Amino acid sequence: MQEQPENDLETYQDEALATLALATDEKGIEAWYRKHLAPSGTMNQWRKRIGAQPAEQRKAFGARVNTAATALATAFETQKRAVAALELERSIARQSVDVTLPGRSLTSGGYHPVTTIIREVERVFHEMGFLTFESPHAELDEFNFELLNMPADHPARDMQDTFYLSDRTVLRTHTSAGQVRAMRIYAPHPVRVILPGLCYRHENITLRSEIQFHQIEGLLVGKSVRLSDLKGVLLSFARKMFGREQRIRMRGSYFPFTEPSVEVDIRCTLCGGAGCRVCKHSGWLELLGAGLVHPVVLANGGYDPREVRGIAFGMGIERMVMLLHGIDDIRHFFQNDLRFLRQFRS
Ligand SMILES: [Zn+2]
Repeated sequence: MQEQPENDLETYQDEALATLALATDEKGIEAWYRKHLAPSGTMNQWRKRIGAQPAEQRKAFGARVNTAATALATAFETQKRAVAALELERSIARQSVDVTLPGRSLTSGGYHPVTTIIREVERVFHEMGFLTFESPHAELDEFNFELLNMPADHPARDMQDTFYLSDRTVLRTHTSAGQVRAMRIYAPHPVRVILPGLCYRHENITLRSEIQFHQIEGLLVGKSVRLSDLKGVLLSFARKMFGREQRIRMRGSYFPFTEPSVEVDIRCTLCGGAGCRVCKHSGWLELLGAGLVHPVVLANGGYDPREVRGIAFGMGIERMVMLLHGIDDIRHFFQNDLRFLRQFRS
């Protein structure tokens, strides 16, 4: 700054205030602050000159400098707020909506068909008083096989190709693995649960088999449970799921953890029983496997098999979706192909 006579202080103040009024954006107001009020700015240079005044003028000059500094600082704060408001207005103006532009469409997702069916099946069983029970995917061999009446050398183990995580741990090959876990929590009281979830088998991936698939298991244990209860529960389920006129049929089968064991069929949902390609012209579709819980399994679950009996059933969810929608390839369910999935968006 040029050396100015002390009486120029008020002139400087007026000029500074005039240029402040011209600073109408953030950049301008920052530059003004640096020039005048910052530690290296002009105002500080006026302060430094106070000490250089003759003693008798020093106090009066100091007061004038303070007055000018306060005036500039006050004006600066006011202008800064005004600029902030202006900047906000400008930014709103930049974002304003052009109503003549075409709209952006909202994309909405949909549930995977497997999720939809699991929820539907759960809803039906919840209405019948069943609770949902979750059990581990990585399961002890003990719960997946041994306690379900399949000791190490049991030939039934060969029916299920298994992913072993260690000598004692497997990826569960069926939701039945949760049966004994549920029983041990409820015993000696009655139990009525469904166990939904992913299961894993070490198989070749083909049209009909995947290495992962969903099952829902059902388990009911109590004093007066009989085979007719199994039929009643499953008929009720089939009618709620597939229509009021639905019929079921039981055929003898074999599972190590039920005795007797049955396969349960429903009337073909596509042809109504007349016979079509999907039901291989039999009029029936295989729905699930079931039976009375084997006494050994009841005992492993902590029950006295002379006192109580149980029914159990397990169904494959992908298989059910395939039947309901006439899908011929199980691999679609895990490929996440939107062309496939969009067909199920409701
Ligand atoms: Zn049919």
